Amino acid sequence: MSLRDPIFAQFSVGALNFHNKRSGMENRMIQTLYHVPEYKEELIYTAVCRFMEDLNIKEDIRPGMKVVIKPNLIIAKGPELPATTHPLVIRAVAQWLKEQGVSNITLAESSGGPYNGEYMKNIYRACGMKQLEPDLKLNMDFSARTVNCREGFANHSFHIITPILEADYVINICKLKTHAMTGYSGGIKNLFGTIPGLEKPQMHYRWPNLKDFSRMLLELAQTLAPQLTIIDAVDAMEGNGPTGGTSHPLHLLLAARDFYTQDYFAAGLMGLDPMKIEMIRQAVEASLAKPDEIRLVGDPLPQDLTPFQVPDTKKLDFSSSLPGFLQKPFLFFAGRILKSYPQLNRELCVGCGKCAESCPAHVITIEKSSRGGFSLHSLAARMRPQRQPSICEPAQKKAHFKRKGCISCFCCQEMCPLKAISVKKAL
Ligand code: SF4
Ligand code: SF4
Repeated sequence: MSLRDPIFAQFSVGALNFHNKRSGMENRMIQTLYHVPEYKEELIYTAVCRFMEDLNIKEDIRPGMKVVIKPNLIIAKGPELPATTHPLVIRAVAQWLKEQGVSNITLAESSGGPYNGEYMKNIYRACGMKQLEPDLKLNMDFSARTVNCREGFANHSFHIITPILEADYVINICKLKTHAMTGYSGGIKNLFGTIPGLEKPQMHYRWPNLKDFSRMLLELAQTLAPQLTIIDAVDAMEGNGPTGGTSHPLHLLLAARDFYTQDYFAAGLMGLDPMKIEMIRQAVEASLAKPDEIRLVGDPLPQDLTPFQVPDTKKLDFSSSLPGFLQKPFLFFAGRILKSYPQLNRELCVGCGKCAESCPAHVITIEKSSRGGFSLHSLAARMRPQRQPSICEPAQKKAHFKRKGCISCFCCQEMCPLKAISVKKAL
């Protein structure tokens, strides 16, 4: 892929002229992009210093400020799985802040499961955040407060984790990924992690439709309005993101004040059509994202980009390729047939219950395994001499999915630590 490919035609020619001087340019329209070949402390720190300078962030920062870093820690996995923000990116930002005299830096996140001390301690440990102390404080205040939305919003209020609301300055540091439900996950989507724990699946249930859910995400983003957004795309995730995909390194760090336009730009770098990502399309239509005004600063765009694999949910959804006026009637008649559902790989499932915990429709139960159906594999298993289970061995349990009531939000797939859930079309 090169700059001549159609994917980049969406950015105006002016936008592709790199601006190495900030003079006369509005900081808000600057999108910075730096090449970082690998996760190495000195390489990341250099890029961070450069984009902080480009965006003139020093002007915003005062030593007595409370700064909150909002990472993506969706699942308790180390940074080798590109699902969570790499700790070295966070460390470099904290180090830069400390050099500006800021001492009150907190890392605050509400990941995929419950929002409490026990759960979050495990997340911090597994995601490599413990090693960031004492450069910053890992949030242990698990309260949340309600904030009212602006007039004209479909949502009246949001329930948000307290440290975000108490911050003077919020730095949103997300991971670049494809996403089973929204298609793309970057700066806007990362802010969903400010909703406390298991209230997130409830919100999926309240807005099961992608259009409404995307509008909710945009209203949440406007309510929170983080001052700076950094996208960790040194390694990124393709396929069944946000947790079940695979690595697709871009070797890039992106930073901007305007995270709506940044998401438009980053989706383009992944080879996605930003206007087919519902939340980005809505952001453009609401003039929150302004792709025509992008001003790139930093390293040249890479010449060797390859398109990201899309999630299985999107591969099965061909309704978006229909002309707009046909989509509604088509979905009305064919919706049930086209609908995708989660499918369990029983061999991988260990019955941990994380999927059931996150299912907003309560259609997953964890049951004692009684293998139904017939397969050569099961026949062979039955013919093998049976090993006596040890007294300490837990009963074999498996997840059980009811299709009726499922809203196809794929929270279950997102939370399964063993990638035991895939996507299946109804017919
Ligand atoms: S499907 Fe995954 S999350 Fe659900 S019980 Fe099985 S292993 Fe756990
Ligand atoms: S079973 Fe999975 S996809 Fe269906 S509603 Fe529950 S979490 Fe969502």
